[in-house]
Amino acid sequence: MKRWLKWVLLGALIVLVGAGGTFAWFVMAKDEPVAFSKLAAAQTIDKEARTKYQEALRVAAEKAAKEAAEKAAKEAAARAAKTAQTATRNGQGKLVTYSIATKGNPAADLSEFRALAAMTLNDTRGWVRAGVYFQEVPSGGNFTLWLSEASQVPSFAPSICSTTYSCSIGRNVIINDVRWRGASDSWNAAGGSLRDYRHMVINHEVGHFLGHRDNQPVCGGAGQLAPLMQQQSISLRGCNFNPWPLDVELWTNR
Ligand SMILES: [Zn+2]
Repeated sequence: MKRWLKWVLLGALIVLVGAGGTFAWFVMAKDEPVAFSKLAAAQTIDKEARTKYQEALRVAAEKAAKEAAEKAAKEAAARAAKTAQTATRNGQGKLVTYSIATKGNPAADLSEFRALAAMTLNDTRGWVRAGVYFQEVPSGGNFTLWLSEASQVPSFAPSICSTTYSCSIGRNVIINDVRWRGASDSWNAAGGSLRDYRHMVINHEVGHFLGHRDNQPVCGGAGQLAPLMQQQSISLRGCNFNPWPLDVELWTNR
C-alpha cells in the first residue's frame, strides 16, 4: 500500500469517528434536558405534596389540641359550678334517706354492714362535705342500700351489673357481698385495708346515686390520691387508694 493512501484512510477514519461522536452527543444532549426537566418537575410536585401533607397534619394536630383544651376547660367549669352550687347548701345540709335490704344469701354480718354504712355516710370526710347527710329509715327512703350475694348482683341490671363488682342503678345501691368481705385484688395488692375498702365502696356506689359517674375524674398523677369515683376496685392507675371524695368531687345532683 502506498504511504499516502494509509494517511488518507487514517484521516477518513478520524473524520468518521469524530462525526459519529458528535452525532451521538447531539442526540443525547437533545434528550437530556427533557428528562432532567421532567425529573425536576416531579420533584417539585413531590415536595409540594409533602409540604401540603405536613401542613395538614399540623393544622389537624392544632385543631385536636384546641378542642381537647376547650373540652377540659368546659368540664372544669361545669365541675366548679356544681361544687359552688352545692357549697352554698353547706351548713344547712340536705337530708337523704335510705333503707337497708339483702338480696340472696349474703355471708357478711348484716348488723356490721348497717353500722359501717351509717358511719361511712355521715363521716365528716365523706359526702357530708358536699352538703348532704344521711338517715336510715325502716323501708323505702330515697335509695335502698343492698347487701347482695355476688350471683344476685346482675339481677338488678344484667347489662350493667356483674357478679364481680358492686353496682349502682337508679335508686338501688348494691354492695357485692364477696367484695365487702374480701375487697378486690387491685386494692389488696396496693396494701389497702379492708376497712378503707368498705368506706370506699359505700361512698363510691352512693356517689353514683348522688349523680356521679365512673372515672370522672381519674387519677391526676402517680402518687396522688385516687378520685373516689375512679374505679379503684379495678385499677388504681398509679394513684394511692382513697375512700373519700376529693375536693373536686364535692357536688351532688340531690
Ligand atoms: Zn362505679
